[in-house]
Amino acid sequence: MQHDYDIIIVGANMVGATFACALADNGLKLLLIDTHKPTFNWPPASYDLRVSALTAASSALFEKLGIWPHLIRERPSPFRALHVWNQDAENKLSFDSADTGAAYLGHIVENRRIQQALHQALAYRRSVELKLGISLDALNIDKDAATITTSDKQNITAKLVVGADGARSKVRQLANIHSTGWAYHQQGIVAHVKTEKSHQQCGWQRFLNTGPLAFLPLDDSRSSIVWSAKDDYANALMAMDKAAFESEINTAFQNELGQVTLDSERAAFPLKAQHVHDYVSPRIALIGDAAHSIHPLAGQGVNLGLLDAACLADIIETAIDNKRDIGREHTLKKYQRARKTGNLAMLAATDGLNKLFSNNHHLLNWARNTGFAAIQGIPQTTSLFMRLAAGK
Ligand SMILES: Cc1cc2nc3c(=O)[nH]c(=O)nc-3n(C[C@H](O)[C@H](O)[C@H](O)COP(=O)(O)OP(=O)(O)OC[C@H]3O[C@@H](n4cnc5c(N)ncnc54)[C@H](O)[C@@H]3O)c2cc1C
Repeated sequence: MQHDYDIIIVGANMVGATFACALADNGLKLLLIDTHKPTFNWPPASYDLRVSALTAASSALFEKLGIWPHLIRERPSPFRALHVWNQDAENKLSFDSADTGAAYLGHIVENRRIQQALHQALAYRRSVELKLGISLDALNIDKDAATITTSDKQNITAKLVVGADGARSKVRQLANIHSTGWAYHQQGIVAHVKTEKSHQQCGWQRFLNTGPLAFLPLDDSRSSIVWSAKDDYANALMAMDKAAFESEINTAFQNELGQVTLDSERAAFPLKAQHVHDYVSPRIALIGDAAHSIHPLAGQGVNLGLLDAACLADIIETAIDNKRDIGREHTLKKYQRARKTGNLAMLAATDGLNKLFSNNHHLLNWARNTGFAAIQGIPQTTSLFMRLAAGK
């Protein structure tokens, strides 16, 4: 059967565009679609409110795809250590890149710059067609092909459809792939702040009973905050004027870096955990948030998605080398086997940490205080935290 494309990728944000880049030089014909049409002409001095803490594994992948120098040339924001403490405990846990022999634990990069660098790299690839401003509306699967119907009423066939269309994935829904999930009843508030003292190229996170508050170091001496707060408190924080918000954050952050002043607007994102039962079905594969969403407290969501993209691309390359059908469930299951356990473990770890710290129950108070004091003395636990920070 003649297909219009080898692979249709639905979702051209960080994960979908990375997957397209990873396969762009393999002789495959790819179509990448997205409802959203991003414009990359923002004012030069402006900073995206959305940033990601990228692990060493993600930067190595971007290096391999040739986009890493573009990401760090203008705004290199490495972080070399992470300091974590708990509302009720005095001691801090510190995870330092020096302990692993690496120069940095990771880098903070603006999301829109990642998408821009990927789209620019794809613009040079004749094997990839990028159609922005159109949506997937319908999906039909038969033995030899997947056919999608787009919002501009086209029917397009491919051997494989990859859903990189985020937490509310339409591909997942149309392919009838089930998921389990729960709301955290928290919102992640993001903003940029100035701090009186230098962030010292470190990440800082205080676990409050209402949820964790993280400061991520930016290149211009400011920090990007992610404040995960219970719904009522988050709504109140969003409604506060600048002075009231600053007073609240200074109390919450205990003046760790001196006076904090708000230096941007604020945006809030509802937080939930979700994981699909199956990553694949015949002629379908899900990657990134379409397959799993996790609490942002460890900054791992997109890092997991990028590893999904690289893994699925590898498995497809091998299938092509062995002249196998890339849409066969048997082939795709290798991707599921490679990624599911690790992703679930990260979901469980972040979920557990959030439950342990965002709770006022007296037994949990005891557990976290005792635990905090003990953790630093146990090499295995410290190494678990380091692996969590490095996304391994
Ligand atoms: C507050 C907060 C902070 C975070 N910080 C970090 C961090 O520091 N590090 C980290 O690793 N992760 C972080 N994350 C998680 C990270 O943002 C997500 O994991 C990541 O954005 C998911 O990327 P994605 O490409 O899979 O999905 P998305 O970014 O959701 O992209 C999906 C794309 O699909 C498109 N789409 C949807 N439906 C259709 C359709 N029907 N047809 C066509 N296109 C469609 C959308 O327009 C969109 O462009 C954070 C999350 C939050 C909420």
